[in-house]
Formats: sequence, structure tokens, C-alpha cells
Amino acid sequence: MSSEKIVVCGAGGFIGGHLVADLLRQGHKDLRAVDIKPLDEWYQHFPQVENLRLDLQGKEACEQAARGAAQIYNHAADMGGMGFIENNRCLCMLSVLINTHLLMAARKFGVPRYFYASSACVYNADKQRDVNVTALKEADAYPAMPEDGYGWEKLFSERMCRHFREDFGLVTRVVRYHNVYGPHGTWDGGREKAPAAVCRKVIQAKLSGKMEIEIWGDGHQTRSFMYIDDCLKGTQRLMHSDVIEPLNLGSNELVSINQLVDIVEGIAGVKLKRSYNLNAPKGVAGRNSDNTLIKKYFNWEPGTRLKDGLAKTYAWINDEIKRNAKSR
Ligand code: NAD
Repeated sequence: MSSEKIVVCGAGGFIGGHLVADLLRQGHKDLRAVDIKPLDEWYQHFPQVENLRLDLQGKEACEQAARGAAQIYNHAADMGGMGFIENNRCLCMLSVLINTHLLMAARKFGVPRYFYASSACVYNADKQRDVNVTALKEADAYPAMPEDGYGWEKLFSERMCRHFREDFGLVTRVVRYHNVYGPHGTWDGGREKAPAAVCRKVIQAKLSGKMEIEIWGDGHQTRSFMYIDDCLKGTQRLMHSDVIEPLNLGSNELVSINQLVDIVEGIAGVKLKRSYNLNAPKGVAGRNSDNTLIKKYFNWEPGTRLKDGLAKTYAWINDEIKRNAKSR
């Protein structure tokens, strides 16, 4: 715990909101939370925190956010699941303005520590063409052929962090998250990711009695999913470590999308008729996190079992759907 000012950018979003909550739980008192959304649209917000609504693509907004900070966590980005990033490449790339201006502001005000949230979407597409994946090592980002749009922006911004560190001495830490999920995140509206989307579809099928589910792709594509508690732990460990290279932070419990649906059906106590939309955005064929490096540095890796994290996520989305139905 420190008495220094900690700034969380993207605090109205999923990971940023949980990070603010976690920092408060640890006893941090001087917190600044920043997001472009109106406060009533933040997933979590807390009255004892300095909550600012700013568009961090702008240089002056970044200076307002960074002034007086001892630590900055940059979780602000225009992003979403495959349905969003495959159809909004330009919007994803414009997030480069956020990280660039935040780095410049951090340098200007001599901010001692800076964290950047990168993604497994930086990895070379050629290494992800098979559902029987070899887990991705950090070195697999180069030679570069990341996810078009979103992944290129992440890779570029990673390098920007590296060069601010090398050329200007700014202490930067970069994580590559692999599919994070949990309560208090996007579950509807087009930006949701697979775990939340599957939970929502299963709940809606159950509530409507129409016992069917549409799955994007053929269901054989493989992924790993990290529960938010592990994400928070790894994020803060990396922030306060001496690790200067971008680090994978992900679960290595590999499942196919069909297996993901099996688990959610099990939680819901239903069995649905599946249809497969082969034209829907589906991302790479397979992706998993190689955790050799994180284990070497921290003697730790994300360990929450998918079925346990999904049970909590399912319960939260179920409550949200019921709450929304009541307020209509
Ligand atoms: P999120 O969409 O829930 O949160 C991002 C927040 O950034 C949103 O609240 C959004 O309003 C805010 N934002 C966007 N543009 C902004 C701007 N111009 N100014 C200020 N705020 C702005 O996403 P998340 O899941 O919490 O992800 C956080 C970070 O982690 C992002 O950088 C994301 O790319 C990265 N990441 C997430 C995942 C994941 O699975 N959730 C995986 C890999 C990387």
C-alpha cells in the first residue's frame, strides 16, 4: 500500500473497474479513475475516488490525467471481442493516440511507473492457424504479423513503451493479456467476448424456452480464458517487478468453443441445440498462453479453473439480464 497517487485509465471498463476496486480493497486512498464514458455507464465506480470523464485520445486530457501521478495503469482502449475488432480496425488503431499521449504526459510530469495493457492479439497469425496449438511464447510476436488493426496498434504501442523506457528512462511495464473474463464486464451490445456472449445466449435460451444457441465459427477453434482475479494479481505483480519485457498473462487451460459451451450449459443445467455460423467473426484457429516466463519471474501463473470463473460470471450476467428485464 502506498500514499502515492495511482491513476487508472479506462476505469469505466471491465479490467480498469476491477483494478480500482482492488486498489481500494488494499487500502490505497489517492486514486484517480479516468474514462471517456459518462460515470453512470461505468461498470464500477466509487465515490471516494477522483473520477474524471476525459477523452484520452487528446494530449491535454492525458496531461490532466497524469499530473501528480506516481503510477499510471493504461487500460483505456476502444476495443471489444472479435465481432468488434474485425469490423472496426480503424477505431482500434486510433487507441494509439491514448497510449502515445499518456506516455508523453507521463514523461512530462516525471511519473515514476507506467503500465500498458497489451494483448495476445499481437502474436504472429501464422503461429495460430491450427486448433491444436503450440502455446505462444513472448518471442512469437516477431517477425510481426499481428491481428489486423487491433493487434498492430497493440504491438506498436508496446514498442512505444519500450522506447520511452530506453530513450527517456520512463519505467514502463507491458502485459499481454489472453482473453480475460468475469463479472462487471461487457456481455451485450456487440463488444462482448466469447465467455460473456455464451453465458448470455445460454441464459436467454433458458429464459425464452427456445433451447437453441448460435455459435460463431465451427466451434472447434481453441482458446484459453483468464478469470479477472488472476488478471488483477498478475497485473500488479508485473507493475511492481523489474521485468522490462512484455509478459504473457493468461490461463493455459485450453478449451474449444464447443467445450466452453458445454461448461456453461453444465452451469445452467440445460442442453441446447447448436447451430454454427461459419460467416461470423471467429478470430484465429487456436491460441494458448505459454506461461514459462511468468512462472520463472513470479513463481506463479493464473490458476482459476474455467468452470469456477464461469460460474461466477454466469451468475452475474443472469442477475443483469433479470435486472434489465425488470427496469423495462
Ligand atoms: P473495456 O472496453 O471494458 O475497457 C476499456 C475502457 O476504455 C472503456 O471503459 C472505454 O470507455 C475506455 N476508453 C476507450 N476510449 C477511451 C478514450 N478515448 N478516453 C478514455 N477512455 C477510453 O476493456 P477491458 O476488457 O477492460 O480491457 C482493458 C485493456 O486491456 C484494453 O487496453 C484492452 O485492449 C486490453 N485487453 C483486454 C483483454 C480482455 O480480454 N478483456 C484482452 C487483451 C487485452
